[in-house]
Amino acid sequence: MSMAPVKLWDFHGGIHPEQNKLQSTTEPSALAQLPKKLVLPLHQHIGEAAEPIVEIGDTVLKGQKIANANGYVSAPVHAPTSGKIIDISEHPIPHPSGLSALAIVIEPDGRDAWVEYTPDQDYSEKNPSHLRNIIREAGIVGLGGAGFPSFIKLNPGSQKKIKTLILNGVECEPYITCDDMLMREDAHSIIEGVHIMRHALQAEECVIAIEDNKPEAYESICKAAAGIAGLRVALVPTRYPQGSEKQLVQVITGKEVPSNGLALHIGVVCHNVATAAAIYRAIHLGQPLISRMVTITGQAVKQPRNLEVLIGTPMDELLQQCGAEFDQIERLVMGGPMMGFALHEINLPVIKTTNCIIAATREELGLDRPAMPCIRCGACADVCPVKLLPQQLYWHARAKELDKVQEYDLFDCIECGCCSYVCPSNIPLVQYYRFAKGAIWTQEQEHKKSDQARERHEFRLMRIEREKREREAKRAKKKAPRPKTDTAKPPPVDGAQMADKMRQEAMAQRDSAEAARKTEIQAALARVQAKKKDAAPKTDAPVAANSPTPAAASTQASTPTSDSDSSADTATHKDHEQSQ
Ligand code: SF4
Ligand code: SF4
Repeated sequence: MSMAPVKLWDFHGGIHPEQNKLQSTTEPSALAQLPKKLVLPLHQHIGEAAEPIVEIGDTVLKGQKIANANGYVSAPVHAPTSGKIIDISEHPIPHPSGLSALAIVIEPDGRDAWVEYTPDQDYSEKNPSHLRNIIREAGIVGLGGAGFPSFIKLNPGSQKKIKTLILNGVECEPYITCDDMLMREDAHSIIEGVHIMRHALQAEECVIAIEDNKPEAYESICKAAAGIAGLRVALVPTRYPQGSEKQLVQVITGKEVPSNGLALHIGVVCHNVATAAAIYRAIHLGQPLISRMVTITGQAVKQPRNLEVLIGTPMDELLQQCGAEFDQIERLVMGGPMMGFALHEINLPVIKTTNCIIAATREELGLDRPAMPCIRCGACADVCPVKLLPQQLYWHARAKELDKVQEYDLFDCIECGCCSYVCPSNIPLVQYYRFAKGAIWTQEQEHKKSDQARERHEFRLMRIEREKREREAKRAKKKAPRPKTDTAKPPPVDGAQMADKMRQEAMAQRDSAEAARKTEIQAALARVQAKKKDAAPKTDAPVAANSPTPAAASTQASTPTSDSDSSADTATHKDHEQSQ
């Protein structure tokens, strides 16, 4: 069954730089040698860095997960071979900043022993969510260079209908040939990956796009895709930057991805061919992403070629394997000469997004051409695929007029480098745009920080003001006169008044107690007198009333009774009364 042709569309601008691809495609790809150690950065993708789940001294098996994804936009990391964890610390990583980041270091044991894994042959029976979970756990990210977690791009949401899945085999940037070799040598894995991706996206159709400078790859893919319903292969004319997502979507569908929008918004999802192959291995074989194809090239390399490389392999070992003349390397670039970036060290590890390493000599990258003033020729605008005005962007970026560069849609710039490439004055335009983007980003961070500080300060002032008002309200409440009602409490008295009042009450109580006691004493004395009177011999001598006999008086003084206690109390009380 012959394949239906794909109608192609055009995009604005673009260039035809020297390809420099043949050098690395003369030999078939090969396996890279097992290195002495593997350095696995925890941040090899767009999103949050992964979190280690192993410790120094642990032994691990090939394919064993060693770091978990940290959040939704993140990806786990797996051991590329069996061995021992010998370090978990900061290591230099391949990044334009030249900074270091946390990495897990494995010393291979040479056995290359796999962890137990579960292949899933009948993926078509599984729901898309199940497949996305496997892809996520396998740590698969976009292998075209972006590094965005692939499971997210396979999840359009229940509201969005995906009509077309575009598989990007364009590989338009000079020097890079890893996708070309993969399509030539392993078309089967790519096509199997397409089936899984279509199922996950529930996409109506798939178009695999390949530039016409890769005839072997085109032939190989066409052969593997023959007879598959809804799958077509498009041979597109070679032009840089056709492999950029927005440009490719336009070429294949005729639709323009809106500014600040995604291809998803017009019913299209785009993935790289190498990502499709990695998804096939994750689902059918149960293998996580632990290796990838890397192009080792540049004039300082004697045997440029493609190698299947374990993630974490130091680049200098790969260069050595390809016969690099280290003293000839003027600049080491990761990615292509247009969108790649210079590396600060030679022994940095290969990460999931390393598609190409260029060991360039001084002449090779035109490093000797000095920049000259802009002659306002307009050539840069003619080639800009996003229809920007690169010359205006350059002036404003140079003058650090950050508001103006944004007015000229700086953030729509895909940093393709077409403008720099054609500039007769050799102005490194993209570097100015990157600088301006970085400055805007820094400024926004600083604004955000100062906004937060201002909010904190305003909140503190508000709190102080509120507490002050509350204190004043309490004080005013205390001072306010009490309402005059029957049930109202007596007005507050001060301390002296209160003390007087208590003293008066105590004295009143004491006086009444004394009066009661005096009454009791007098009654007791009366009773005693009455008894004496009854007991005394009847004489004629007159006895004074209430006068005790001498004996009785003596007995009363020496033998205390309850009554005598009362007498003592009475005497004491009398003394007290006299002292007052
Ligand atoms: S191509 Fe270079 S010289 Fe020409 S207008 Fe653009 S920046 Fe100026
Ligand atoms: S680098 Fe930016 S401004 Fe220059 S051509 Fe590419 S998209 Fe346009």
